[in-house]
Amino acid sequence: MAKNIQAIRGMHDILPDQSPLWHFLERQIKTVVESYGYSELRTPVVEMTDLFKRSIGEVTDIVEKEMYTFEDRNGDSLTLRPECTASCVRAGIENGLFHNQVQRIWYYGPMFRHERPQKGRYRQFYQIGAEAYGLPGPDIDIEIILLTQRFWEALGLEGLELQINTLGTPEERSIYREQLVAYLSAHSDQLDEDSQRRLISNPLRVLDSKNPAMRSLIEQAPSLMEYLGDESRAHFDQLCAGLEAAGVSYVINTRLVRGLDYYARTVFEWVTDKLGAQGTVCAGGRYDGLVEQLGGKPTPAIGFAMGVERLIALLEESGHLPELGTVDAYLVLMGDTPQQQGVVLADKLRREVPGLRLVAHCGGGSFKSQFKKADRSGARIALVLGEDELAQGVIGIKFLREEAEQVQVSLDGLAGYLKGIL
Ligand code: ATP
Ligand code: MG
Repeated sequence: MAKNIQAIRGMHDILPDQSPLWHFLERQIKTVVESYGYSELRTPVVEMTDLFKRSIGEVTDIVEKEMYTFEDRNGDSLTLRPECTASCVRAGIENGLFHNQVQRIWYYGPMFRHERPQKGRYRQFYQIGAEAYGLPGPDIDIEIILLTQRFWEALGLEGLELQINTLGTPEERSIYREQLVAYLSAHSDQLDEDSQRRLISNPLRVLDSKNPAMRSLIEQAPSLMEYLGDESRAHFDQLCAGLEAAGVSYVINTRLVRGLDYYARTVFEWVTDKLGAQGTVCAGGRYDGLVEQLGGKPTPAIGFAMGVERLIALLEESGHLPELGTVDAYLVLMGDTPQQQGVVLADKLRREVPGLRLVAHCGGGSFKSQFKKADRSGARIALVLGEDELAQGVIGIKFLREEAEQVQVSLDGLAGYLKGIL
């Protein structure tokens, strides 16, 4: 017999018992972004391949080796989006969103990268991000970082560390790049294969190496901080002062980089030591040159993206999960007439009790087996309707999760009773 078809490696189902935690996270995040006045932008999951080549850059891991690229039936080269900033900028230019306007937007959805799957690293994964266009900062930089900190509060996550750095301007960075290349070339015997390659293609990204053997070499490398001009210096100082005024703790990590020329000044990451090697849950920065690079008018911009699977893993790890039941009540139906009338009764209750989440038993079966299902549903109460109850115009109510006497309520008063206890 043929083997059953399985999901693609690195791509996962979010199963019914996992989705309540996802919904909780999504609700909390949405509440926070909306409280800052950000509006959602939804873009297609596929884009023209050139969009990513031109925005993310040819010499990045993503474009070099991680994209899901294919030809469609017209022969166009399309790519499953590996991230969403490029799409947001494309949509913004295409729809005139950046013309003399400030835009605060957020997005949520699946991204695709052909990486080696491991804990916290998948081939389809979800990102939530927010971006602000048309503001040069540093006030908006501070707002964006505060917003991310509000997520952790809203989710009840503790122990995340904020790391910040500045990349200066492209001009400042190119002077620095020469110094860095000189330093790394002088120690080329200590560079691993990846870094040898990056030294030629994109030297700043050597600083991003995750190889422990490279750590001490990287720590002693020259720092971009020493090459900042007055304006970049002032921007960074104001960012630090603003974070301090808001009571946000941070550490300066001068090795935090993005390799591309359209990045400017502020970069930040939120990291945890609780997820092993995949410890970055949120990465952000300023990309003042990107809109222009994609054909729009020069528009300053800053944004971030968070890996949702990593946040879910952190929530699970944190131990204090919120109450996430998806069912309030389970209707047990004994006997032919109750079974026939159950669907109608349940439908009436759902209409009369706003928000009620009620499962009506289907398929008959013994009292015992129906109660087992009621229990497994996670419902707080079981409603019991048998022939006797029906004859008397009542229904039995049994509490499944707490010490409480079983009670009987009249069918007429049931909706009111449920409103009172739920
Ligand atoms: P890394 O250096 O770990 O590969 P990255 O620089 O590629 O990270 P970004 O493109 O900045 O990551 O993405 C932002 C966030 O999205 C990451 O901090 C992480 O939380 C999440 N993320 C990125 N790639 C994956 C993936 N393959 N699986 C799950 N989450 C991911
Ligand atoms: Mg990556």
